[in-house]
This record gives sequence, structure tokens and C-alpha cells, in this order.
Amino acid sequence: MKVVIIGGGVMGMMQARELSQRGWEVVLVDKGICGGEASWAGGGIISPLYPWRYSDPVTALASWSQGYYPNLIQCLEAESGVDPEITRHGLLMLEVKDREQALLWSETRQPAWLEQIPATALYEYEPLLRPGVAEALWMPHICSIRNPRLLRALRMILEHEPLVTIVEENAFAGMEREGESERVTAITTVKDRRIEADRFIFCSGAWTSSLLPEAGLKVAPVKGQMILFDAVPGIVNRIVLNQGRYVIPRRDGRIVAGSTLEYTEFDKSTTAEAKETLADLAIDMFPRLAEYPISHHWSGLRPGSPAGVPYIGLVPGYRNVYVNAGHFRNGLVLAPASVRLMSSILCGDKPPVNPGPYDPGARVI
Ligand SMILES: Cc1cc2nc3c(=O)[nH]c(=O)nc-3n(C[C@H](O)[C@H](O)[C@H](O)COP(=O)(O)OP(=O)(O)OC[C@H]3O[C@@H](n4cnc5c(N)ncnc54)[C@H](O)[C@@H]3O)c2cc1C
Repeated sequence: MKVVIIGGGVMGMMQARELSQRGWEVVLVDKGICGGEASWAGGGIISPLYPWRYSDPVTALASWSQGYYPNLIQCLEAESGVDPEITRHGLLMLEVKDREQALLWSETRQPAWLEQIPATALYEYEPLLRPGVAEALWMPHICSIRNPRLLRALRMILEHEPLVTIVEENAFAGMEREGESERVTAITTVKDRRIEADRFIFCSGAWTSSLLPEAGLKVAPVKGQMILFDAVPGIVNRIVLNQGRYVIPRRDGRIVAGSTLEYTEFDKSTTAEAKETLADLAIDMFPRLAEYPISHHWSGLRPGSPAGVPYIGLVPGYRNVYVNAGHFRNGLVLAPASVRLMSSILCGDKPPVNPGPYDPGARVI
């Protein structure tokens, strides 16, 4: 069986690895360099932010992936020699207004995943947090990964996999159908390549609706800006979330702080205003961060979708064209389960979660 995957972000590359492991021939096509868009720009938190506010379909994919991630990262490191630095430092949430809902969610859905802790415990975890915080919500199991490293590992594995061909800097341009039928025989690219296959999967993130305009999928870009403090280990020890903004410590002491939520179409420019706001919020949480330089400032386009529920399955109007896109703010955490679900749809084996809520055909009005 041969498949063309359009888009080489975390979704496309993980999908390519899984299908090649099952003996499929894979051609992975990207308009730029694989792993150069949202999957690179993200923070790498292996959890939705405020997870109780999400619907069951997002929680189902997140829970499956969270269980699978440590093993996956070990495999990727063994296969590639690149360590994506999965770190279980836990997530602290300050000033949560709906904490009763959070505690109830934990009790009924994820026992022992979330607890309320007093100031004494909080300052033991984070001695350099600004004084005066009375309590926090604490999720000790939450991990982060260094997503650029995860992407490097995936890329390296695919480069050495004989069943995989990577076609970069060559955007998808169109599809050729078999006569008038719903069956696609090949895609074409802007640099005049024609690639035949049995199946086609769009893992094209924020660009998905623009590539499949007739399919009725509602995927739209949502810009997020991030900054990086060149700090040292010990300034921030955990992922800390306050008023929707977060700081994530890397093992070398650098701190990622994010992120904005901007509806500006495909504009990826960064702004001085966002940089200042992100820096102010991070420094407000950890005043010592003011002593360290901001060495990077970047943005990425999240694939926004209704309620953040991705589209995974057959695209309406086609017999052999599929989509795995629209993961909004959670594509890094949701990727393993989403990719496994897509593989199970293609191969006819047991899905990791109920496929119904993600079925594009059932969601298109
Ligand atoms: C600032 C920010 C912070 C985030 N933080 C987190 C986090 O902490 N945790 C988390 O789980 N998620 C996070 N996310 C969300 C996550 O990054 C995304 O949901 C995820 O990366 C989507 O992966 P993807 O592979 O679908 O998309 P992408 O990584 O964007 O990949 C899509 C690919 O499709 C390619 N493509 C587009 N058009 C074409 C074409 N015409 N032809 C060929 N290829 C094409 C693109 O070049 C790109 O490589 C964050 C996102 C941002 C922006």
C-alpha cells in the first residue's frame, strides 16, 4: 500500500513513521522543511491547559497520548539518537477561578491527577515565585518535551527509513481524480511533480481548509507568539500557568514563556507589544527572570478548529483521501493518539478511542 502525506509537522511525521512501520510505502510532502511550522513553535506541554475545560473527545485523545508518550520518546531516542527531553516536572496553576470544576473533573475523570496545594507546598516547589500566592492547583504527572528535538528525532528516523521518501520545499498543488469518481489517483505539486498513491492524508495543520476548500472542514490559523529567556537552572522548576499564560523550564535552565492567541489569518509576524506583554507576565510570576536576556521571539500558526476537536478520518466527497488536522492548542499532546486513530482507520484495526467525534463526514454541515 502506498500513501502520500501532505504536511510534515508532528502529525505528518508521526503518521509517516507509524505507517512505514506497518510496511506502507510513504511519500511525505511539505511546502517548506518538515517540522518548520506550528509543531516547532509550540511550547511542548503534554497536556491541554486547564484540561477540565475541554470536551470529552479532546480529553480522550490527550489521556491516551499521555500514557503512551514516555514509551514513545524512549523509542524515538533509541531509533534516532536524539533525546526529546521528556521531563515530568508537573504543572502548577495559579489563580484558577473555576477550581471547583477542576477538582470535580479530577475526581470523576482522572483521579489523583489534580489536587489543591497550600502556599507552603507551592513555595517548596517554586521558591522564586513572587510572594503572596495563597494556593495553587497541582498536576504532578504533567510532562513537557522539547518539541524541536522531537521533530529532529522524527525527521532523522524518516530519513533513514527505506519505505519513506521526503519531498520538501514543494507544496501540494492539486489532486487528480479517476474520471468523475471520488477516487484520487495522484497529487501534483507546485514544482511539477506528480505522485501516485493508493491513499492520501492531509496533515497540513492550519492550511488544511485552504487545501481542501470544498470539504467543509473548519480549520483556521490562530497565531501564537512565544519568547525564550536565557536563564539558568533553578529559577523555574515546574510548568507554571497563570491567567492563561505559562512558563516552561527546559533542562538547561532556559525558560519558554507564552503565548498569545491572535486571529490574524496567515500572518506570522511578531510584535514588540506581544514580546513586552509576555515578558511582563513571566517576570510578574518570577521576578528574577528580569535579570536574564530574552534570546528568541517567534510565532506559529495553530490549526484552530471548532472546540479544538481535530478532524480525523475520511474527507467528505472522496473515497481515499483522509485528514488528520485541526488540533488547535494541543497538537503535540494529541499527536500519538490521533496518529494511531488514523492508522487504525486505514488498516482496519482496533482504534485507541471512539472515532465518531472526529469523523469529518459527521461534522460537516
Ligand atoms: C505558540 C504555540 C504554542 C503551542 N504550545 C503547545 C503545547 O504546549 N502543547 C501542545 O500540545 N500543543 C501546542 N501547540 C499546538 C501545536 O503546536 C499544534 O497543534 C501542532 O503542532 C499541529 O501540528 P500539525 O502537524 O497538524 O501542524 P504543523 O506543525 O503546522 O504542520 C503542518 C505542515 O503542513 C505543511 N503544509 C502546509 N501547506 C502545505 C502545502 N500546500 N503543501 C505541503 N505542505 C504543506 C506546513 O509546511 C507544515 O509543515 C502550540 C502552538 C503554538 C503556535
